[in-house]
Amino acid sequence: MSTAYTFVPSPEHEYPDHPERPGRLDELIPKLDSFPAQRLEAVPAKQEEISRVHVPRLITGLERVCREQAPGIIDYAPTYITRTSFDDALLAAGATLACARAVMDGEFDNAFAVVRPPGHHAEPDKSMGFCIFNNVAVAARDALAQGLERVLVVDYDAHHGNGTQAAFLDDERLAYLSTHQWGIYPGTGWINDAPHAKKRIVNVPLPAFAGDQTFARITDKIIQPVVEAFRPQMMLVSAGFDAHWNDPITALGLSSAGFFHISKRLVELAREHCGGKIVFVLEGGYNPTNVANGAGAVFAALAGRTQEFDAGDPSPRREPEVESRLDEVRRWHGF
Ligand SMILES: [Zn+2]
Repeated sequence: MSTAYTFVPSPEHEYPDHPERPGRLDELIPKLDSFPAQRLEAVPAKQEEISRVHVPRLITGLERVCREQAPGIIDYAPTYITRTSFDDALLAAGATLACARAVMDGEFDNAFAVVRPPGHHAEPDKSMGFCIFNNVAVAARDALAQGLERVLVVDYDAHHGNGTQAAFLDDERLAYLSTHQWGIYPGTGWINDAPHAKKRIVNVPLPAFAGDQTFARITDKIIQPVVEAFRPQMMLVSAGFDAHWNDPITALGLSSAGFFHISKRLVELAREHCGGKIVFVLEGGYNPTNVANGAGAVFAALAGRTQEFDAGDPSPRREPEVESRLDEVRRWHGF
C-alpha cells in the first residue's frame, strides 16, 4: 500500500482558551515522520473549488472579516477567526483536495489530510462549530467535477456533521453516513433528518459511552449495507478523535483500538467496493494524546496492518445497549 498525507497545522489560527487550538497536534507532530506515508505539499484551494460547496457571499465575507475585523467570534459554538484564518482554511481545504486527487489519479492508494481548522460543521452559507470551510465536502464535490459519479463520506467524529449533510442533501451523487453522540452540539442528526434521502443520508445518533463494541456493530449492521447499496467510487472519512472516551468536550466511548478497528474496516470496504480509494480527513479531537494515537491508528489501517493496534487506553465505562437503536436506523432506511 502507498499512503500520502498532507499536514496543515495552522499555528496562527488560535484563540485564548479555545479547545480547537494548534496544541491539539502537539503529540502528533513528533510522530509524523514515523508513519509509513509520504507527505504531499498543499496549495490553497481556489475560490471556484470552495464555491462548489459554499456560497460566494460567505467566502468574500469571511475574507473581509478576517482581514479587517479579526480576531473575533463569529458564532455561538464559539467559532473564532484570526487574521490568518481565511488563508488557513483555504490551505486546509487545498490539502484535502491534494490528498483526494492523489488517490483519484492512482498516484497513491489512499491518504490522510491532517488539517485544521476542521470542516464538517460548515454549511454552504455558514461557518460554524469551529469550522470555516467544509474540507471533506469540498473534496467530495471536486471528485465529482473530476468525473466520479458517486462519493460516500463516513463521519465518525463525536458530533453530527450538519454542514456535510446540508451540502449533500439534494445531491444524489453524494452519500453521508454519520455516527455521533446524540444530544450535544449541533443538535441535528436524528435518524429521520432527511426523509427524502433514505439510504443516502444515514444518521446513527448514539447514547453517551457507546464505544468499541458499538462501533463494531455499526460497521457490520449499517456501514456495510450503505456501502453495498450506494456503491461509492471513492470514500472520504471525517475522522474526529473526539469520539475517544476521555475527550474533554464529548462523552462517547471509543479507544484507540476502536478507532483502528473502524478505520481498518473502512479501508477494507473501500478495497472491496471502490478499488481501495479512501481518504481520511481530520475533524475534531481535543485531547492531544488521543489525536496522536487516533492518527496512528488511521495510518496503521491505511498501511493495511492486520494485527490489532492498541495504545493501552480502553474505556473504563460500560457500554450502553444500542441494538434497538441500530435496528431503528436499519428499519428507517429499509435495510
Ligand atoms: Zn467533533
